[in-house]
Amino acid sequence: MALLQISEPGQAPAPHQRRDAVGIDLGTTNSLVATVRSGTPTVLQNDAGQSAIPSVVHYAQDGSVTVGQEAQEQAIVDPLNTIRSAKRLMGKGSADLEGTWLAGHYEFDTTVNAMPAFVTQAGNKTAIDVSSAILQTLKDVATRSVGGDLVGAVITVPAYFDDAQRQATKDAATLAGLSVLRLINEPTAAAVAYGLDRDESGTVVVYDLGGGTFDISVLKMQKGLFEVLATAGDTALGGDDFDEALVALLCEQAGVSDIEDRGSQRRALQQARAIKEALSADDTVAVDWDIDGNQSWQGNITREQLNQAILPLVKKTLSPCRRVLRDADIEKSELSAVVMVGGSTRVPLVRDSVSEFFEQAVLTDIDPDQVVAIGAAIQADMLAGNKPDTDLLLLDVIPLSLGLETMGGLAEKIVPRNTTIPIARAQEFTTYKDGQTALALHVVQGERELVADCRSLARFELTGIPPRVAGAVRIQVLFQVDADGLLTVSAMEKESGVLASIDVKPSYGLSDGDIETMLKDSMDYAADDMQKRLLQEQRVDAERVLEAISSALAADGDDHLSSEERDAIDSKIDAVKASAKGEDIDAIKSAVEQLEKGSADFVERRMNASVKQLMAGQHVDAVAAQLEESEDS
Ligand code: ADP
Ligand code: MG
Repeated sequence: MALLQISEPGQAPAPHQRRDAVGIDLGTTNSLVATVRSGTPTVLQNDAGQSAIPSVVHYAQDGSVTVGQEAQEQAIVDPLNTIRSAKRLMGKGSADLEGTWLAGHYEFDTTVNAMPAFVTQAGNKTAIDVSSAILQTLKDVATRSVGGDLVGAVITVPAYFDDAQRQATKDAATLAGLSVLRLINEPTAAAVAYGLDRDESGTVVVYDLGGGTFDISVLKMQKGLFEVLATAGDTALGGDDFDEALVALLCEQAGVSDIEDRGSQRRALQQARAIKEALSADDTVAVDWDIDGNQSWQGNITREQLNQAILPLVKKTLSPCRRVLRDADIEKSELSAVVMVGGSTRVPLVRDSVSEFFEQAVLTDIDPDQVVAIGAAIQADMLAGNKPDTDLLLLDVIPLSLGLETMGGLAEKIVPRNTTIPIARAQEFTTYKDGQTALALHVVQGERELVADCRSLARFELTGIPPRVAGAVRIQVLFQVDADGLLTVSAMEKESGVLASIDVKPSYGLSDGDIETMLKDSMDYAADDMQKRLLQEQRVDAERVLEAISSALAADGDDHLSSEERDAIDSKIDAVKASAKGEDIDAIKSAVEQLEKGSADFVERRMNASVKQLMAGQHVDAVAAQLEESEDS
């Protein structure tokens, strides 16, 4: 990425040095580009006068690529080569395709690396290629509109995008020749557009229901500081699903069991979408549906019927709403505003349900389709140095905890979820074995206590550690998450300075809803997991005590113990071993205590003996020095 000179406060660039930067809402369904002109954010239009450009790309046989409305028109005649909803696949692996809408509508090549590719007549295209084509188009719209080069773009992503998805978005921008000033979360951009940071204080919910993603965020304003307290959502829920539900309803009305031909499926979806959008304004819509060229259906669809069809989907958005409030530790009554974002929030049932849920009127003043692009443009303008007096600060959060695997297969959380980013957190670790010269690090993501239940992000090794006794080496592990949510983990041995680090661009392959599931599991299993962790810790402790006593017994047990005393200790050792095989934490704990108590005399005799040995024929000073030395080692 090109380096940008950001102006210091009070050093505004001269007018002729104005730097044009844009904000881009790279949506699943529609994409928009906006810029700030004479202090006013404006959504830019293409030559056809459209501002919302359908995120659809058509690949022709001769290799030519069309984007937007023109591409959308190819969907019916050439469905396989007309790619839409590619955003759903950003940063995903082939395994994530199964059972998705995309899998049912396109052909994929899943053999080349981990990223699935759409098979088109112009060759295989990954989601990154498709997004890049869209970004290229938006870039062209912008350069034509501002009449010159751009210094860069702020691109928005759903709050729930993980590292891989964010990285894929950056890759697409790079391919399109766009310099990314920053990636920001869509809900955060919406809040910027509303200027909510100008409020002295207040807590705001942003409800964003688009075509393919649902995001819910709680933002808090405090003296110009803009903080995302918590986020939740569903990366596979939106207006597309409303369309599917409505197609099912239409089929039911028309007495059609299945639409086989892809072009007809596409036409049905487009028809459904038009009906749905019309029903946001009208109570009834007259439908003339050409089903497959042979059959057709005429009739009326009412808003009430639509409402019934989509009610379960709308309800599905409410549990993340509930959770985000809990995560942010906020009561509904404490919310100062509920902001509606995304085309699907035009549906009256959505507005009503959300308003009812949060027990207040919802904000729809700024066009919910444009609000994200507008916020991104404001942010871009600021990052390009055109607004040096602004003190707007954006803080985002990481959606899932990041940590390391420790002894016993336990996950040690280093950066807890919902920590605001950018963030750097360091923690010290040490070696387990004497003379150990390498340390394997396993970076994990998730909320569960056991590594086996978390997502593995990366493994790397720190080598060249100077050989020392176990526990004497100090290794600092640093977790850094940058403003775009990308993670770098580094490990440094403090004495020698040897360093190893890894940029985590996690394997493309976190499936849709995985974050949801991981969060839900962590709640469902929280008590269970804590129990497992305590058990595991108790076992590690028992192991430590057994090891210490056994080696002492082997060294000089016979010198200090009668055979009866020895038997008593041995039976307590057996009791600890037996209890550690079971799952009763208290039983292990009390067996360990019994063993420690039962061997206390033995331990004391050994100490006395070693002191006596030291004292023999030596001055007190020398003994003290020797004792100190033995304590140090
Ligand atoms: P994305 O962020 O996923 O690109 P958008 O915010 O552009 O999505 O929203 C697109 C969705 O909004 C589509 O499903 C579209 O049908 C829906 N939509 C747009 N206008 C309306 C409307 N008037 N009534 C209902 N839904 C609408
Ligand atoms: Mg959107």
